[in-house]
Amino acid sequence: MSVIALDVGGTHIKGAVVEGGELVEGAQWSTRAERGPDAVLATVLRCADELVAYAERRGSKPQAAGIVVPGLVDEAGGTAVLAANLGWRDTPVRRRAAEHLDLPVAFGHDVRAGGLAEGRLGAGRGWPDFAFVPVGTGIAAALTIGGRPCAGSRGFAGELGHLVVRPGGEPCACGNRGCLETLASASAIARRYAEASGGTGTAAGPVAAREVVARAVAGEPLAGRIWTEAIEALADGLAALTVLLDVERVVLGGGLAQAGEPFLTPLRGALAERLTFRPAPTLAAAVLGPRAGCLGAALLAQDLLDGADA
Ligand SMILES: [Zn+2]
Repeated sequence: MSVIALDVGGTHIKGAVVEGGELVEGAQWSTRAERGPDAVLATVLRCADELVAYAERRGSKPQAAGIVVPGLVDEAGGTAVLAANLGWRDTPVRRRAAEHLDLPVAFGHDVRAGGLAEGRLGAGRGWPDFAFVPVGTGIAAALTIGGRPCAGSRGFAGELGHLVVRPGGEPCACGNRGCLETLASASAIARRYAEASGGTGTAAGPVAAREVVARAVAGEPLAGRIWTEAIEALADGLAALTVLLDVERVVLGGGLAQAGEPFLTPLRGALAERLTFRPAPTLAAAVLGPRAGCLGAALLAQDLLDGADA
């Protein structure tokens, strides 16, 4: 038995066919969000058709589909309430996909789906109270409390990137100032380094966050300062999350977490310093990589078939 899974992002749509819990085919397409919301939805449906066709060529007709998207998501209603980078507003993705595919469709939030996958298959496995925190273009947290994903009353739980850690600080795209994202997201690290170094970057373009980390580790003072500021801001955010939710483990995702110990070691120290009255949660790098969202979408589809409350 197979399910198909789609993780719809602002730049790419990732797809998978999952058979008996194993990913048997992965695919990726360009979202081309500039074409407008209807065209993006049509592309998502066409991608789903391709995955169904692939599964059928393997002799395994898919029984369900899972689709996860960014932004504000009404999981129960199956609606993308606001996905700014896809142009979607109150878009009934689940209904449209179910009608098109004639299959049951599970619908969810990309980061929470990634957290579900890391919790069942990855670095959060065996930890009923953990946060999955991808650090990429933005920063978010998927919260699992008592073994259950926590979406909050409106699906807004875990917007860690918009926790104010530097009141009155740099402006954030959300309209506030001093949000964690303005200092510690991969894009913020790259931008702040480029600005502080006179906007030059390298010949190939702005110095990406991974390169800033490498330069910091190599002892370059400017990179070291930007990197330390990012680590301290992230530790402030994770300390707040820990004090409020008492998570036992934080699983860090995104390209920066793949940097491994140059990222995790200073972050562990900074977090422990802030949690004066209690032990810090263990920190680990995510293990499922960029496929976490897609694997989570497949788990949602499988849960739908199993009749589980996902
Ligand atoms: Zn913000």
